[in-house]
Amino acid sequence: MSIFTKIIKGEIPSYKVAENDQFYAFLDINPNAKGHTLVVPKREVNKLFDLDEKTYTELMSFSRKIAIAIEKVIPCDRVGMSVIGLEVPHVHVHLIPLKAMEDIQFIKKVKLQPEEFEAVAKAISKNL
Ligand code: 5GP
Repeated sequence: MSIFTKIIKGEIPSYKVAENDQFYAFLDINPNAKGHTLVVPKREVNKLFDLDEKTYTELMSFSRKIAIAIEKVIPCDRVGMSVIGLEVPHVHVHLIPLKAMEDIQFIKKVKLQPEEFEAVAKAISKNL
């Protein structure tokens, strides 16, 4: 079972942003920028392009809604999207508020307090 499946099941806590029957969105615990969100299909599949086409399309559509909400609440130039999966072998879309190219590079990290994570997750969620 992946760490994200444990999060989806509520066995590991997360700062939830949104959820439907197929997908779960929550804040990345080691964010590139404030508002960095992960969108995960509940069914555990390792690689993005191994998803069936319908799930893939619906994941993108769900991620788009979250990205639009992030853009409303986090000051940024735009929200970038990245899919890597080298650390956690369970499909996830990174949605990252960008001000500069380095914000997408997984090098510069920001430290947030629990109250900040809480507030950001709530604000994005309210703007969906
Ligand atoms: P990737 O697999 O795309 O290379 O990176 C996995 C991402 O998941 C990283 O950005 C990492 O910070 C995030 N991550 C790993 N474990 C956890 C966790 O337990 N909770 C949360 N919220 N994020 C996690």
